[in-house]
Amino acid sequence: MIEPLTVPADARPRPDYLTGTKGLQIGGIEVPARSGRTFATVDPVTEQPLATVSAADAADVDAAVAAARRAFTDPAWADIAPYQRTLLLLQVADVVEANAEELAVLESLEMGCPLTQTRWMIHHCVEVFRNHAGWPTKLYGQTAPSASSQFQYVLRQPLGVVGAIAGWNGPLLQMVYKIAPALATGNTVVCKPSEHTSLSTLRFAELLAGTDLPAGVVNVVTGDGKVTGQHLMSHDDVAKVAFTGSTATGKHVLATSASNLKRVTLELGGKTPYIVFADADLEKAASICALAFCAGSGQACVAGSRIFVQEPVRDEFTELLVGAMAPYRAGLGDPFHPGTRMGPLAFRGHYERVNGYIGLATEAGGTLVTGTEPIAGGGLYVAPTLIEGLDNKSRVAQEEIFGPVSVLMGFRELDEVVDLGNDTVFGLAASVWTRDLATAHRAAARLDAGSVWINRGSQMSAGPLPFGGHKQSGLGREHGTQVLDAYTEPKSVIVELS
Ligand code: NAD
Repeated sequence: MIEPLTVPADARPRPDYLTGTKGLQIGGIEVPARSGRTFATVDPVTEQPLATVSAADAADVDAAVAAARRAFTDPAWADIAPYQRTLLLLQVADVVEANAEELAVLESLEMGCPLTQTRWMIHHCVEVFRNHAGWPTKLYGQTAPSASSQFQYVLRQPLGVVGAIAGWNGPLLQMVYKIAPALATGNTVVCKPSEHTSLSTLRFAELLAGTDLPAGVVNVVTGDGKVTGQHLMSHDDVAKVAFTGSTATGKHVLATSASNLKRVTLELGGKTPYIVFADADLEKAASICALAFCAGSGQACVAGSRIFVQEPVRDEFTELLVGAMAPYRAGLGDPFHPGTRMGPLAFRGHYERVNGYIGLATEAGGTLVTGTEPIAGGGLYVAPTLIEGLDNKSRVAQEEIFGPVSVLMGFRELDEVVDLGNDTVFGLAASVWTRDLATAHRAAARLDAGSVWINRGSQMSAGPLPFGGHKQSGLGREHGTQVLDAYTEPKSVIVELS
């Protein structure tokens, strides 16, 4: 029996921010939904309501898009010097940093992720704003070669209103990955956080009152995806949708964008292979593989949900991996307990979905190497679960589970494991463990993934490297210089001089 770590109810944080109905953030003010409708956001530890949040419908989305549209042409935003834009982004970073603890607590309360991890995510938001603050003064256009009778150049201009739609596993961070480049390039934003995790994005927008950012540059509408999200992404005055979420919703976003040919970037699901060759540092590989599918209770797009190990070391590695998972099993518990390494899953529907996949694994003939022990007190906890005995074609090895579950499979040589790693509709990331440089580089070149990590696990970029997916893991990139193309439109200008 696993006994989750608990915290007495009166010792759990209860920020003042949770009091009262949380309104929408439109044009720099908090407003209720016009319909008066609200919904409850739920604490996954207690499964009790945490806060009441306004449910935006079409009229509210229209108001938010109109506010963002006005801000887009407001001289206080549209006409400022690039360096002033840099200073505004730095102010935003400062305000997040100054309120980091409150934002991290709100995220831990809403998604159940350990406070140590939400603190890291909020700190990363600060880094992302500071990194993007450097872009405004470096957003060069081009001059083009032309006859002496003409002058030709290319301007790089913002798109307009960006609809930013995010998932629940890193709510503010996923939003900041969109807000920071949008602002750095002169766009304005309407954010739609996940209905499971609205609070940190709402609070962030409220905190912007402490900066010089003009009202309406960042707006937030909260509510259900099929209502609030749907209106936002199909709005004709929204020039671009920047989306993070499931591949199924991402495909719907792309199809809907055809109505007015919106620009679209999609950060979607994954089925990341961790590939361990016999010559690797097995102990380190085991420790990072455990982290890769246990951290955040495996609710990560880059979770190491498939582990391929070279046959000669399979038994030895499995034993090391099970050992490396032990601290996560022992650290299952309340996100506010200092010993917690894995919190509950974010909400009941998702908990049932993950357990459904574990049931499917055993029905399909898989063996649970770990994850069979019952958990005291029920709740939404799922123990780290390692599955053997399934092949890469099984549903459990093909579909994104988004929980602390990984399938361990064997392989003999490089060609075989590259084929296995690539044999999925996803292509977000891959991790390769070997001391042989040639093997490492060959694998990196041939794996169909937006990011490949050699002898390490995932590393989220605050700036220099583009992040995004191949195949059905996404479209376009966040970060890197590539992100600038995703938030600007080139304009060719021809000046007749003669
Ligand atoms: P989801 O697709 O259910 O929801 C994502 C967002 O879309 C939410 O805000 C939701 O309200 C909204 N939405 C749902 N239906 C909509 C509709 N019809 N119109 C407009 N918006 C709609 O995804 P989720 O469960 O919140 O997030 C988990 C998924 O996100 C996983 O697949 C994970 O891999 C992926 N993810 C990807 C990355 C990445 O960078 N590639 C990062 C984190 C999460």
